[in-house]
Amino acid sequence: MIILKIGGSILTNKDSVGEVDVQSLRRIASEVKSSLDNSPKDLIIVHGAGSFGHPPAKKYKIGEKFDESEYPQKRIGFCEIQNAVKKLNMYISEAFIEEGLPVVAIPASSFMTATNKRIVEGNLDSFKRYLQKGFIPVIYGDVVLDDELEFCVISGDQIIQYLAKNLNPDRVVLGTDVDGVYNKNPKTHDDAVFFDKFSSLDDLDTLEGTTNIDVTGGMIGKIKELLYLADLGIESKIINAEVEDNIFKVLENENVKGTVISRGK
Ligand code: ADP
Repeated sequence: MIILKIGGSILTNKDSVGEVDVQSLRRIASEVKSSLDNSPKDLIIVHGAGSFGHPPAKKYKIGEKFDESEYPQKRIGFCEIQNAVKKLNMYISEAFIEEGLPVVAIPASSFMTATNKRIVEGNLDSFKRYLQKGFIPVIYGDVVLDDELEFCVISGDQIIQYLAKNLNPDRVVLGTDVDGVYNKNPKTHDDAVFFDKFSSLDDLDTLEGTTNIDVTGGMIGKIKELLYLADLGIESKIINAEVEDNIFKVLENENVKGTVISRGK
């Protein structure tokens, strides 16, 4: 089984709110299809919320403490975000189904709950049952109820971590819009140094954020989730899904440039 994350940075245009990058989406759907045609495999897809989820999450400050009087406004914010990411998922599912890929959406907001922004509950039996029937379960960055904060946002990266911890996949792959992890943001630093392997946050020059609208932690958030998996002995790999054929190759276990996150040397 492979758990594949497709970053919101690839699927949406980060500069314009609520716009799908149709070209990338179609290309990725067709690469996934080619790989499954080539060699059948169990696949779970996780996608980010990109420019659909982050702006309303920021606007309503979901995940921050609030007074009781603000509850109705926060609640409608929760609904707005849930609906926005659902919309993105519908575009993605549509493109995959058009390719003939049997995707079925299993939204986190419908079955996961968190405590202080960490997923604590989420029964994955339906994932297993859909997989057994030959479906491709799809889950995405979403809002969920939180025992301490009422509501919170959970990233696709945290979901990857939760699924991998509980489902014991053979491989965990994350496609984003850079080749992998560098010692600093390669988009703003020409001299950033690339890591083939990454095993500690100490290797980063700065803990400087990532994209400016990402409320769920961007590259740093991603690395933290993956290091947690590495602690459990689960290796993962970040690759550039903007490079044509990378998703196909990685699904076929061919060599693709990227950063392997593991605690070993
Ligand atoms: P996605 O939406 O694909 O999950 P994000 O946009 O959240 O990904 O994170 C990827 C972005 O993180 C890259 O576009 C890059 O600009 C930024 N970034 C910040 N620091 C680093 C770093 N040290 N190494 C690689 N990318 C970084």
